[in-house]
Amino acid sequence: MGISAPASASSLNPAKFQHFQTRIQDRMQHRPRYRLLQGHPMPKLMLHAEDSEREMLLDFLPIQDRKLIIGVIPHTFCNPQVKDCGWCTFPHESYSAEKAHIVSSRVVEEIETRSRRLGLGRKEVDSIYFGGGTANLTSPDDFLALAIALDESLKINSAEVTIEGTPQNFIDHIITRDAAILDVLETLPAASKRISIGVQTLKPESIEEMGRKRFGNLETIDKLIGKAHKRDISVNGDFLINMPNQPVAAMLSDIETAIRIGFDQICLYSLVLFEGLGSTWSRMPEKLAGMPQVETAYANWLRVRQMLLEAGFVQTTQTNFERQEVNQGPNKFRYELSSFDPSGVDGIGFGPAGITMITDPKSQRGIKILNTHKSMRYAEQIEKSDTAFGFWHYYANLDDLLMGLWARNFSRGFVRRIEGYDPVERHPELIEALVEAGLLTISPKRVEVTTRGSFFTDTIIGLLTEERAQQIREGNQENQRIIARNHLNDYTDFYGDSDDWGGGGM
Ligand code: SF4
Repeated sequence: MGISAPASASSLNPAKFQHFQTRIQDRMQHRPRYRLLQGHPMPKLMLHAEDSEREMLLDFLPIQDRKLIIGVIPHTFCNPQVKDCGWCTFPHESYSAEKAHIVSSRVVEEIETRSRRLGLGRKEVDSIYFGGGTANLTSPDDFLALAIALDESLKINSAEVTIEGTPQNFIDHIITRDAAILDVLETLPAASKRISIGVQTLKPESIEEMGRKRFGNLETIDKLIGKAHKRDISVNGDFLINMPNQPVAAMLSDIETAIRIGFDQICLYSLVLFEGLGSTWSRMPEKLAGMPQVETAYANWLRVRQMLLEAGFVQTTQTNFERQEVNQGPNKFRYELSSFDPSGVDGIGFGPAGITMITDPKSQRGIKILNTHKSMRYAEQIEKSDTAFGFWHYYANLDDLLMGLWARNFSRGFVRRIEGYDPVERHPELIEALVEAGLLTISPKRVEVTTRGSFFTDTIIGLLTEERAQQIREGNQENQRIIARNHLNDYTDFYGDSDDWGGGGM
């Protein structure tokens, strides 16, 4: 098979091709999950970082002259009135102002120490994202201290800075009772500023059921958008669709309102909910029974997506939609797009549950490191040893690392230059089966994710990583590096025993 041509059916191994056809059908019977937020491999396949390895990991790969993005999780605390808002699979713990202060102070230390050890020397940063349980529960003073640590350790003048949180807390902060977080954000020496708010739904009964009443209502959000825009801060809203028994009319009504009140970006998440997930609703038969069938969920997403496109939004990633004028201007949202591009971007994660992914294209190596999740355990580790690495995975070649690329359109020639092979030829039967299922299109120069593929990206990435996941599992067993159950407790407390633990919340 020539590298510029898609596989022809005659050149494929029929048994392998059929195997992938069956696997695709199996996977597409389930609603998509959010593996992309975590990247490959999932924590269950990573090695627990022993004390003796933490130092080695700190210096493992030099940061190259590549784009750098920074994720900061000041703590994993949040304060809904219903446990996990019923559905959330993101790391979260009950809020305490005192603990949040302790943890975010340790994050300041981690930023300073790791930046020094990595020799970042005021390296230019492309984008910074303050996320986590509810990042805007951080006190304005602590948020400022984190920003100062970043500004002193790195070069953030041309960066985009985002902080996420609940709407009410941006305009009536739990500690300062004012809009001080917005004021701090406004004064940061960065090129563009954003807030990202977890709206989920505008329907009052659903907000109440999720225990999110005190996070604000439509009026709060409308007011917040005005205050942010006055400070030249753009606003993203995260919305859930395909919730149990949610009529499509309700989804459309939420998004129609979101467009009208002036969100610059809208993120659509199809709710992840299935038996065994570990969230509260996943243990409630009536919630599970109320979930739409997969094809209905896809049809609902298509209708909401169409509404956004007709209103002048452009789809920038699997979940993000952005107003065209914002997308073409200086405030175009950068962080998420960059986070899907390990081929050209390194990422460093600070704070509990922070994810670091560093690539060295010259040596064809890479590393993924996950910080400890539990906030107070993270703080203890930083105090003791300057690092809080919980899990790690070493990429002996870049194939694993580049899996994330398949979530978006990419040039075959570009990957060929980095990897030395054509990505389509590496998995001919699988790619052909994905094309046949309508999830990808392949041209001589490009791999493109179809509209259907952008809803079922989880199937694409899941299948591409399936074989490697098995190899990693077997390799770890051979090396007797099976992750001890107690090491995983940190994670399974949050997520049950599901593979789908990269889910979203806020
Ligand atoms: S959705 Fe947000 S507020 Fe709710 S449990 Fe998750 S992190 Fe906490």
